[in-house]
Amino acid sequence: MIVRSLKIPAFGVTLLGLRMAPEHVLSMRVILSTTATAGQIARVVGLAGQSSSAPENVSIESRNGHLVVSFDAGPHSVDPVGFRSLPGVDAVEDAQPIYTLAALPADESDGRPRGRSIVGIPFVDARIGSDQFVVMAGPCAVENEDDLLATARKVRASGASLLRGGAFKPRTSPYSFQGVGGEGLEMLARVREKVGIGVVTEAMEPDAIEKVAEIADIIQIGSRNMHNYPLLKEAGRQAKPVLLKRGMSATLEEWLGAAEYVLSEGNPNVILCERGIRTFSAHSRHTLDIGVIPVIRERSRLPVIVDPSHATGAAERVPSMARAALAAGADGILVEVHPDPARALCDSRQALTFEIFDKLMTDLVGIAPVVGRRI
Ligand code: PEP
Ligand code: MN
Repeated sequence: MIVRSLKIPAFGVTLLGLRMAPEHVLSMRVILSTTATAGQIARVVGLAGQSSSAPENVSIESRNGHLVVSFDAGPHSVDPVGFRSLPGVDAVEDAQPIYTLAALPADESDGRPRGRSIVGIPFVDARIGSDQFVVMAGPCAVENEDDLLATARKVRASGASLLRGGAFKPRTSPYSFQGVGGEGLEMLARVREKVGIGVVTEAMEPDAIEKVAEIADIIQIGSRNMHNYPLLKEAGRQAKPVLLKRGMSATLEEWLGAAEYVLSEGNPNVILCERGIRTFSAHSRHTLDIGVIPVIRERSRLPVIVDPSHATGAAERVPSMARAALAAGADGILVEVHPDPARALCDSRQALTFEIFDKLMTDLVGIAPVVGRRI
């Protein structure tokens, strides 16, 4: 029997033991050839049933003379390529989205709360994703407690809500300074209490993330770890917000997929951070993809901040890119500041002095109301 001669039963009638065209979310569609035999159809339907979470989530409908088998593909589904190679199959539409929790909901009908996420940092009364432009500033790495305290006091006085600084540093060379480690976390914790400033610091290993989460207001996942799925999952099990830096070669889709890993483990508080990407352009450390900000606004509910320091790699270019980030609609910035950039143990070339940082903050305070923000 060929499909052309098949009478398609009306809605609600069963074919091959399956309900027709039920109203549920369908994520994979297999389009059968008009000449598919009954045996070929049965093979596709059987595989769809195995791939689906429940047999009743497989449906068959007719579209322009083709039978279309739809089902809710899950983690154990046959690879779409596998379906494509079956006899009697014309095409496969894999509608499985990479991310749904990170997406901007169209309305409330999907059960998710409406609108954009706002990530609260209660310790400093900051709300990332609100009309507040949140500034995070500090050294690339925690070096010693005196410098950290002096930096925290200065950036706080200039208007920063959070102190940045890595205790654990992912470095390109194993011979470069790797951070002071656990001791650095203790320094950050003490400085946080003394100054009343929030802390954002990087976690590099799944096993160490809880220690970071104990002291940090925000757990940073670095660019190099954006694809580290065990780390992302562990971050998703923590009770602290996660700052997810964009992988230096990651597309927006891959970046939002990484955010989805954190969200799908139960942590709703993810902040994206654009920090520049690798391009053919060789005039700066990376290329700041400022144009991604309005696209994130279109596609995702997550707040996004910009790191102009790692993007440009040069202190004199940081203020203009920080101002651009605010003007373009970012929810904040992450900036490197050091008491004496010349003696910084890492990224000295891109660190701002206290004076330049203070001047930048004055500029940002001036720009903010023009774009409907406050600092
Ligand atoms: C950092 O912010 O400390 C850092 C290492 O940046 P990135 O992960 O963006 O390179
Ligand atoms: Mn750095």
